[in-house]
Amino acid sequence: MPSDPAPGGVTLRELADRPVTDLKGVGDKRAAALAKVEVRTVFDLVSYYPRRYLDRTREATIEALGVGEEGMVLVRVTRVSERRTRNGRSLVEAWVTDGTGSLTLTFFNQPWRERQLTEGTEAVVFGTMDRYRDRLQMTNPIVDLVGDRTGRIVAVYPQSESAGLQSWDLDGLVGEALRRVMMKRGFDDPLPEGVRERFRLVDRSTAYGGIHRPESMQVVAEARRRLVFDELLRIQLELVRRKVHLERSARGITHVRTAGSDGVDLVGAFHDRLGFPLTAAQVRTIDEILADLARPSPMHRLLQGDVGSGKTVVAVSALLVAVQGGHQGALMVPTALLAEQHHLGIVDLLEDLVVADTGTLMGERPLRVELLTSRTTAAERRRIVEGLEEGGVDILIGTHALIQEGVGFRSLGVIVIDEQHRFGVEQRAALREQGDQGGQGDDADGGAIPDVLVMTATPIPRTAAMTVYGDLDVSVIDEMPPGRTPIRTDWIVEDDDRVWSIVRDEVASGHQAYVVCPLIEESEALEVRSAEETHGALTGGVLSDLRVGLLHGRVGPAEKEETMRLFRSGAFDVLVATTVIEVGVDVPNATVMVVLDAARFGIAQLHQLRGRVGRGAAESRCLLVGEAPTPDAGERLEALVRTTDGFELAEVDLDLRGEGTIMGERQKGRNDLRLASLRRDREWVEVARDVAIELVGDGDGLDDHPALADEVALLLGGDEVDYLLKS
Ligand code: ADP
Ligand code: MG
Repeated sequence: MPSDPAPGGVTLRELADRPVTDLKGVGDKRAAALAKVEVRTVFDLVSYYPRRYLDRTREATIEALGVGEEGMVLVRVTRVSERRTRNGRSLVEAWVTDGTGSLTLTFFNQPWRERQLTEGTEAVVFGTMDRYRDRLQMTNPIVDLVGDRTGRIVAVYPQSESAGLQSWDLDGLVGEALRRVMMKRGFDDPLPEGVRERFRLVDRSTAYGGIHRPESMQVVAEARRRLVFDELLRIQLELVRRKVHLERSARGITHVRTAGSDGVDLVGAFHDRLGFPLTAAQVRTIDEILADLARPSPMHRLLQGDVGSGKTVVAVSALLVAVQGGHQGALMVPTALLAEQHHLGIVDLLEDLVVADTGTLMGERPLRVELLTSRTTAAERRRIVEGLEEGGVDILIGTHALIQEGVGFRSLGVIVIDEQHRFGVEQRAALREQGDQGGQGDDADGGAIPDVLVMTATPIPRTAAMTVYGDLDVSVIDEMPPGRTPIRTDWIVEDDDRVWSIVRDEVASGHQAYVVCPLIEESEALEVRSAEETHGALTGGVLSDLRVGLLHGRVGPAEKEETMRLFRSGAFDVLVATTVIEVGVDVPNATVMVVLDAARFGIAQLHQLRGRVGRGAAESRCLLVGEAPTPDAGERLEALVRTTDGFELAEVDLDLRGEGTIMGERQKGRNDLRLASLRRDREWVEVARDVAIELVGDGDGLDDHPALADEVALLLGGDEVDYLLKS
């Protein structure tokens, strides 16, 4: 094809440089039709994959297919007609025969079938054989017009009514494209031989041949494996390449756990004063993080851990390593309420710890932790900002409002961002810049980029994380601290007495309960009203003798704090709330979580809500109330009843909602994931990641694999991956 052939086979780029009009039989009109289905180049054509395959070896005859049986028959149309049923629906009937017998195909609401199945048309139909008034019939069967294609397996291409393209048109063009490639040099295979052998992948010529012109379904499967691998590998190569580039180009801070000869080990001292031993998962993730911190390049790590798995201890350990080396740490959370809670908890955990300070008589001073939110008073704020600038504040806890307001740190060493799902990539980037500016003082590390740890309590499947957070390393806390009593979850369809008597029983035995009101996404005002109404109904009815608080998005900060304080202190038995309590609220004495109209919430949200109970020693319950309007909603609620494992739930969520939820809008655009599915091909995502890390190496990036590098550049040009990382 090219005038100056490269050695080896034809590359995807060469095919992408060839317009379809280079093929025999493609003129302007055909090219315009193909453009409608996004096929413009020969590469587009060979990656226009069949929608499904007809296995002609499984073909039956009309005579042989019994009533009630499902099967495939090759037929010819003898007559077709359309009419309206009594209730106005379109009904197309096609009389067909295959020489052994005849039958009627009936189609409801598909008027265009009359034009498709004209007399003499040959079609392969797949459906269930019925008998209706003494005639054999199939209702709404699958119909494929395959023209005169023979062969045992026939590829069926997505056809386009509006473009006027039939499966056999595409089949013919793809066949022509493949023939020309094979006549030349076959496909170039950029994948190293060793990798292909290790995973028993067929070569690329075999793959493209097999996906379009298979001899058996086994061949299709082999071809698919290889092409799926290629797609996933390209994405991982790009993500890993970016990550490695960032690590090499950015100068970070080399943190060490114990600095100098004074032997103070803040992290060790902190662990010693915890009233419990760390779980194995905490030890492991802390080790992973400390190893990152000790490297000269900046850390970008995601810490996944279910609600209650003990992420705070891990985060504080990282912050203390920064403080140990004379730097500062910042913990950013999504809401002021959370910031306040974290502040209380962390001050408590770090009480009595001291840091070295040559400016004082004793050579040390107490470690200083401050809280900065939109609610901090001006005077207080001035004091804190001053402390940050001169270095007297060691750890700052706050909301992301901090980022925008240009608070200057003397030397920000480690940033922990909690609850990642509330933050975007932009905020992460802004924070990193923040550290950049902050370091411009007299510090030796001026200009260095701080280490970043992102924490999320919304587990996402490991393989999905590898794609969505592909620019981050991932640590997982996959173990709960001991002694937790599992939360019992029930789905109660009727909002009946049972729910409220469980609540009353728990309160009677000294515990507390949450009641979460229906989520109304369209309008905060409606949601607030529904919370107020629920509160009114309960206090005026079944819970009239209990002390019931109310919390929602329109309650002012002071009142909210007061309500939480009262609930925490036990002055309220029950707290009626909207999802404002979803994240981070920690009241160990609360043992019941009632979620009204639970089907309105997603799996992740319900899991978060449930995580508000089961925080103490007492057994806890979660009651999901209300009907499931759809089968999916029912499956969601059943999954929550079945398991409390966040990662398992994340897998269910992915199965039910599809990867569109992870990949976001990306699915709709131009897209290199044509065959691969993050769901179905999970295990291949991991393999691709490992291979990408191996190929990018820690040497010269992809320089040793120019053909792969070129393919990545071709198919994942710039913004494609940016988009992926943002969604
Ligand atoms: P999350 O991962 O949800 O942020 P937290 O860090 O808030 O979890 O921890 C939840 C609770 O578990 C806290 O009360 C904490 O003190 C406790 N905890 C953390 N680690 C352990 C451990 N290793 N053993 C016992 N309790 C622990
Ligand atoms: Mg937490």
